[in-house]
Amino acid sequence: LLLAYDPVRRLARLQVSLERAAVNARMLYEILDTVPHQRDLPGASRLAITEATVEFRHVRFSYGDGEEVLKGVSFLAEGGKTTALVGPSGAGKSTIISLIPRFYDPQTGVILIDGQDIAAVTKQSLRNGLAYVSQQAYLFEGSIRDNIRYGRPEATDAQVEEAARLAYAHDFILAQPQGYDTPVGEQGMTLSGGQRQRLSIARALVRNAPILLLDEATSALDTESEAAVQKALDQAMSGRTVIVIAHRLSTVVNADKIVVMNEGLVVEEGTHEELARRPDGVYARLHNIQGGFLELTAGADAT
Ligand code: ADP
Ligand code: MG
Repeated sequence: LLLAYDPVRRLARLQVSLERAAVNARMLYEILDTVPHQRDLPGASRLAITEATVEFRHVRFSYGDGEEVLKGVSFLAEGGKTTALVGPSGAGKSTIISLIPRFYDPQTGVILIDGQDIAAVTKQSLRNGLAYVSQQAYLFEGSIRDNIRYGRPEATDAQVEEAARLAYAHDFILAQPQGYDTPVGEQGMTLSGGQRQRLSIARALVRNAPILLLDEATSALDTESEAAVQKALDQAMSGRTVIVIAHRLSTVVNADKIVVMNEGLVVEEGTHEELARRPDGVYARLHNIQGGFLELTAGADAT
């Protein structure tokens, strides 16, 4: 216990969380970057998405020479359904998400989209099928319009506005001094946390991608922004395959499937009703402990 207060260890932890945040941002950039400069396998085909089913089969992964972080993960995220990943911090949830755009490749096992091994398709065709909403709402230098269009550079003004409407952002955008042309980012307007999140959701929506990867924000917004962001997310999730790192109980309960992770393994999966009913289940135990569930899935896990 004393060790936990050691300042050197605390600094080390801070360093790690800064690196994680950088990974988050890099992943966003890489998904958005549609320029085909990435190395593909010779003869790589284009990914053809039909149902948008995502499947992990016996995936094992470690970062560099480090300890194994995923120790044989298998699960199916059905097309058009929401699959929630839950489990304690460090279980491997963010790692799972980062393997889907091939930000990293597993050492063994395969990840399939509609039966196609994602290692055998072009990265561009893979990432075209994906949208990603991270915990932090990153804004780039530029106007509000630029920030949404970043999700799909060829989007028309009408498509940008449509995405903003769906993300419940249109009204607050029009209320800005220069509407869609208002500059944001470091030099620009200060927007509230909820407004920033709705812009980043609009950026994901303009991609109109069949698969949405979502790392649910842990930081609390005021109730009004929270409701607006939730409506925007519901809109973004509808009709898509969603894989969400869930921090909110309502997301977990409403998911079509819950995948419970612990120490690099899937320990349980099912619906809330199924899992909550299992007398000795991990999920049931977490859920029954008052407040325990949320504590376990939120808290320090801001990676
Ligand atoms: P979760 O999202 O469930 O909290 P992560 O996937 O972020 O879990 O982390 C799983 C394990 O991998 C942890 O032990 C974590 O320290 C480690 N890890 C995560 N990201 C990196 C990284 N970029 N480099 C090295 N280790 C990492
Ligand atoms: Mg995480």
